[in-house]
Amino acid sequence: MGYIEPAPIKDKANPFESMMSRFNIAAEALGLDEQVYNVLKSPSKQVSVSLPITMDNGSIRVFEGHRVIHSNILGPSKGGIRYAMDVHLDEVKALAAWMTWKCAVVDIPYGGAKGGIKCNPREMSAGEIERLTRAYTNAMLDVFGPDRDIPAPDMGTGPREMAWLMDEYSRAHGMTVNAVVTGKPLVLGGSLGRTEATGRGVMVSALAAMEKLMINPYHATVAVQGFGNVGSFAALLLEERGCTIVAISDISGAYYNEKGINIKEAIAYRDGNKGTLEGFAGADLMDNAGELLLLEVDVLVPAAVEDVIHSGNVEKIKAKLIVEGANGPTSAEADKVINEKGILVVPDILANAGGVTVSYFEWVQNRLGYKWTRERVNRRSDRIMKDAFDKVYETSQKYNVPLRIAAYIVAIDKVASTYQYRGGY
Ligand code: GLU
Repeated sequence: MGYIEPAPIKDKANPFESMMSRFNIAAEALGLDEQVYNVLKSPSKQVSVSLPITMDNGSIRVFEGHRVIHSNILGPSKGGIRYAMDVHLDEVKALAAWMTWKCAVVDIPYGGAKGGIKCNPREMSAGEIERLTRAYTNAMLDVFGPDRDIPAPDMGTGPREMAWLMDEYSRAHGMTVNAVVTGKPLVLGGSLGRTEATGRGVMVSALAAMEKLMINPYHATVAVQGFGNVGSFAALLLEERGCTIVAISDISGAYYNEKGINIKEAIAYRDGNKGTLEGFAGADLMDNAGELLLLEVDVLVPAAVEDVIHSGNVEKIKAKLIVEGANGPTSAEADKVINEKGILVVPDILANAGGVTVSYFEWVQNRLGYKWTRERVNRRSDRIMKDAFDKVYETSQKYNVPLRIAAYIVAIDKVASTYQYRGGY
């Protein structure tokens, strides 16, 4: 989780509408049949539950949980579970639809879903989070399933929560079902390479885009917003490929060092400092963390939350390339200005698809009852990311549209043609 700069209300009004506005442009460019359009725009299932949990002090608190299945046309639905205070149904719906397009862009046989619980995990004990996770899993026993709907981590959750989810689901079925969830700890059937997979995919797509812009990674400056799982690995791997990471940020603020931040040191500092960069001495604390987005860098990686690039700051963005590590970091209103300014954007549904790609590999390994080496996982996911980038790039040239719309075109085309083969009632 990273620094959150509040966006103007109008940009934030409805994340589902913001997803739909891009979907509509792509559907029109593709000449999508109106009936298929209506099928693809509607989430196929939405489940909301109330979860009464006994807190450590003996009181009972009721939490609100959701799981939205946007589509299962390409296969079982796939997508993470988010624990955050701003979880609400419209956001979960948008995130579920993004998962459908994301899986289709990287050509893996999954539909899209997302779940969320409105809670603040930072203020809860491990026991309270465990009870909440088990209660949520129990409430979703008919929704989840290795051939039905496969959850994974997202903001506020990680391998620990996935282990509880897998255990609760397995108990209810009287057998070990590790393929019901991905992002598990290694000992429970997690995959090597899954932890760093999203950041690695961001690195692969950033390098592919830099090549198109003829930016030499050894001369490139990069700013990364958000120093959680995605941002920190993206920064580390880009640094390893020669880039100079001049700025990073998290909830404690933004840190700038013109000469480059040693990312290994920053990660080690964060890990020994309750997960935050607060007090990190390898860079200067910036007065205004939101300024990180406005730095004059070659590459900007927003890897925190939604809508951080919005109509209020987009005019001032100076990066040549934006690689979206987060889901939905650019509001629909900001797209237009970005395109006018000629900034190349590798969109979220492509740039951060490395995570779900390795989730797919984890599920494949669980079903095979076999374990791949880290090298095999990385090689295969790098190839998938590079192929997806090339396909989206070609599509953007063919239709003369930005990469974001091209990614939607690739995804919608795939899901629509599969739907037409499968048919309906
Ligand atoms: N939560 C991640 C995402 O937004 C991963 C989803 C998954 O692995 O299923 O892509």
